[in-house]
Amino acid sequence: ATPTSIMAGSGRAAELGVLFKGGEHLELTHRITTVVLDKTGTVTNGKPVLTDVIAEGNITEEQLLSLVGSVEKQSEHPLAEAIVQGIKDRGISLSDPDDFEAIPGYGVKAASGGRNIMVGTRKLMNQSGIDIASAAEKMEALEKDGKTAMLVAVDGVYSGIVAVADTVKESSKAAIRRLKDMGLEVIMMTGDNQRTAEAIAAEVGVDRAIAEVLPEGKAEEVKKLQMQGKHVAMVGDGINDAPALAVADIGMAIGTGTDVAMEAADITLMRGDLNSIADAILMSKKTIRNIK
Ligand code: ADP
Ligand code: MG
Repeated sequence: ATPTSIMAGSGRAAELGVLFKGGEHLELTHRITTVVLDKTGTVTNGKPVLTDVIAEGNITEEQLLSLVGSVEKQSEHPLAEAIVQGIKDRGISLSDPDDFEAIPGYGVKAASGGRNIMVGTRKLMNQSGIDIASAAEKMEALEKDGKTAMLVAVDGVYSGIVAVADTVKESSKAAIRRLKDMGLEVIMMTGDNQRTAEAIAAEVGVDRAIAEVLPEGKAEEVKKLQMQGKHVAMVGDGINDAPALAVADIGMAIGTGTDVAMEAADITLMRGDLNSIADAILMSKKTIRNIK
C-alpha cells in the first residue's frame, strides 16, 4: 500500500463523514463479509418515547407512573430517560428513591415512599419470583408492534407495564438494502427482547436479529461469527457496544454516540446515517484497487 493512495483514500472518506483511525483500517475494511448493527441508536434514532401505560390491581395509572418515574430518574439508560420525560409531560410529580440499583440488561430496582419498586424484563421479574403470567398477552401485543415493554412490580406484586417506542432512522432501510446488494450479510444485535427485535428487523430488512444479548455478551456474539470464518464489522453507539467494537475485525462507531464507543472503534461515522457503512467499504475497495 502506498502512503499516497492511503492518504488520498482517507481524505475522500473524510469528505463523506467516514473517519478512519489509521491507514490499515482503510486497507482491511474491504474484506468485511458480515455487518452487525446495534439496534438502539444505530438502526433506530435512539430517542424512545413513552407510549403505553397499563396499571393492574389496586393502583391507578398515575400512581404507577409516579412510582416508576421516581425510580427511573436515577437511571442513565435511554429507556429511563424516555419514561421520565413521558411522566413529566403528563404533569405527574416524582419523589427521590432510596437504595437505587441498576441491573444492566435487566432493569432497575429501588425503594420509594416506603414501597419496593422494580421495573424491567421478564427475567428480572422471574428472578425475583414475581408472577407475571397475567401480563403475557399484553406484553406480546406491545412487542409485536416493535415497542419495548417493561414490567413493573410494586412490593413484589406485578402491577403493570410501561412501554416505549423508538423510531427507525429514515435512512436505515435503504442503507441496509445497499449492504445486501453488495453481497454482505446484515445482522441486528440488541439487548431488547426477541419479538421487539424481530418487528424492527422486518421493518428494516436485516437478515436476522440476535436479541436478549446481555451487555457483556455482544463481544461474544461477534467472536462466534468470526469463528465461523466471517469478517465482521460491528456498528454501534453505546458504552455497552465498546467491547464488541474492539473485538470486531472493523469497529464502526456512530459519531453522535458515546465517546467510549468512538475510542473502541476503528472508524467513526460522523453522519448517523447507516449509508456510511457502504461508503466506508467502497472507499476501502477503491483504495485497494489503486494499490494493486
Ligand atoms: P439495548 O441493547 O437495547 O440498549 P440493554 O441491554 O441496555 O438494551 O437493556 C435490555 C433490556 O433491559 C431493555 O430492553 C429493558 O427491558 C431492560 N432495561 C434496561 N434498563 C432499564 C431501565 N432503566 N428501566 C427499565 N428497563 C430496563
Ligand atoms: Mg445503542
